[in-house]
Amino acid sequence: MPKLIPILSRLLILILATASSAFAQNDPEWTEPFPPFRIAGNLFYVGSKGLASYLVTTPQGNILINSDLEANVPLIQASIEKLGFKFKDTRILLISHAHWDHDAGSAKIKELTGASYMVMDADVPVVESGGKADFQYGDRPEFLYPPAKVDRVLHDGDEVKLGGAVLVAHLTPGHTKGCTTWTMKVTEGGKTYNVVIVGSPNVNPGYKLVYNTSYPQIAQDYQRMFDVLKSLPCDIFLGAHGGYFGLGEKYPHLKAGAANPFVDPDGYKKFVAEKEQEFRTELAKQTLAAK
Ligand SMILES: [Zn+2]
Repeated sequence: MPKLIPILSRLLILILATASSAFAQNDPEWTEPFPPFRIAGNLFYVGSKGLASYLVTTPQGNILINSDLEANVPLIQASIEKLGFKFKDTRILLISHAHWDHDAGSAKIKELTGASYMVMDADVPVVESGGKADFQYGDRPEFLYPPAKVDRVLHDGDEVKLGGAVLVAHLTPGHTKGCTTWTMKVTEGGKTYNVVIVGSPNVNPGYKLVYNTSYPQIAQDYQRMFDVLKSLPCDIFLGAHGGYFGLGEKYPHLKAGAANPFVDPDGYKKFVAEKEQEFRTELAKQTLAAK
């Protein structure tokens, strides 16, 4: 009888693991509301617990980064309004990369706000086909979404400017072909901070890093991405998912008069180093298996 318990618990873990991977696209944290808040200066958090969205406010209207799932659009709107801003003042819409969890709501947001949609060149075919042009998930109906027209095609290093705010689009490819890491400067309390919003450094389950006919240069692109991330000066560490930078752990420490928990240059360096190691381990594994 005592032996039965470990067997049963192992079985339960297996069942739970299978269930969670089958429904990975519906991670409950993705649609769980999160309190909107000022990160620093004119940069605000308006995403859910699991899907990060950012609002950059300016006297000439606002910039929104990440439209998230279609189901998240009302959440983002409510967060923006709770902060005292108008959803309709969203002039520019940007994304971290062309995956449904960051861009499925773009068509809806364009329709509701009239925002100009600006996307990195290599992700444009994916967003304009509603995910069908994606190298990995294009034939998976559960990952497709309403197509949205891109108003401005961005290239590596391009600046997006509005009302004095300047965001720089860094091509950090691999996770998607046009995966974008956004940087900007914010000023608070007389200090200027370098902000980095990481696009995604993850090698998803099922990604082929060797002999990938739909994305032959994928491994070189991942390495290029890590080289770019390592070169960026970072004070305020953010990303496309709250989990990248410890949103849930840092948020309770955000208090007037205390050090801003999102200022975390060491956390950024550690995250990038860990993700690069994960990539290299997976690449070595796949290279060996392909021999
Ligand atoms: Zn993704």
